[in-house]
Amino acid sequence: MLSDLATINDHFPWFFSTLSFLFGAVVGSFLNVCIYRIPAEKSIVVPGSRCACGKPIAWYDNIPILSWFVLRGKARCCGQPFNIRYPFVEFLTATLFLTCWLIFPPAVAACGWAFVSILLCATFIDLDHMIIPDRFTVGAAMLGLFLSFLVPSLHAQSGDLFLIDNLRSVIHSGIGLLVGSATVLWIALVSEIILRKETMGFGDVKFMGAIGAFTGWEGALFAIFGGAILGTAGLAVLLVLRPLLSKKINTEDGLLGRPVPFGPMLALGGLLYFLFLQEPVDAYFLENAEMLFGETVQ
Ligand SMILES: [Zn+2]
Repeated sequence: MLSDLATINDHFPWFFSTLSFLFGAVVGSFLNVCIYRIPAEKSIVVPGSRCACGKPIAWYDNIPILSWFVLRGKARCCGQPFNIRYPFVEFLTATLFLTCWLIFPPAVAACGWAFVSILLCATFIDLDHMIIPDRFTVGAAMLGLFLSFLVPSLHAQSGDLFLIDNLRSVIHSGIGLLVGSATVLWIALVSEIILRKETMGFGDVKFMGAIGAFTGWEGALFAIFGGAILGTAGLAVLLVLRPLLSKKINTEDGLLGRPVPFGPMLALGGLLYFLFLQEPVDAYFLENAEMLFGETVQ
């Protein structure tokens, strides 16, 4: 079975890549459902997709990415506009799933798919509601620990030593969970004293634990500080472009009038580390460990 799959991969290198993109688009469609229904405490299973007017949406009008363009962004039943965010989330999920497949071995790519899905749901729910539901924080942290045990290569363990490498991997994951949560907790406590208002919430503390469980402590620290820098830069660009932005973003209750959610910044930092920056960031921390402790820390 596995050798058959390897043969397919040898002869048609694009086959599994295409498949992971399509799988990502389908998962993205499901993530849209989660993003809208979970904060409203509605079931994510039943009923099937419905238009805002209440009519069910047929399967052929519900094809990820494509349907939005075929229908030109309007519902077939009543002509109400669909948010462009639906196809955007689907396309983004598909692209990130493909990226995971292209840069990681299959088992790590599968863990990456879970990680990416959690980050996307948390990001868009936080943007909408300024909360991150527990299943994307506490639940995600438990899943991160579990997957770390199952797939030691998620934390650069070869997996050659049965059980020992699994335990090393889950310990690295657990340290990432604790370092991530504790760092955000202390930033929140100190900034609350200095600024005399709540900056980061307990949701961010729990969410950062989940990111750390998938990335280890190096990724957790990068996500917090890298994410804060990227987020601040992004906000600065938005403020400069402010006169050009649509009313939706610009008004009092629009994106720029509200307090800033930190979840999306943490998610962006964690995602960049996980996909592209593991080597340079880990090397940076190793170098600094040598400087601090005077010898190579393994
Ligand atoms: Zn309708």
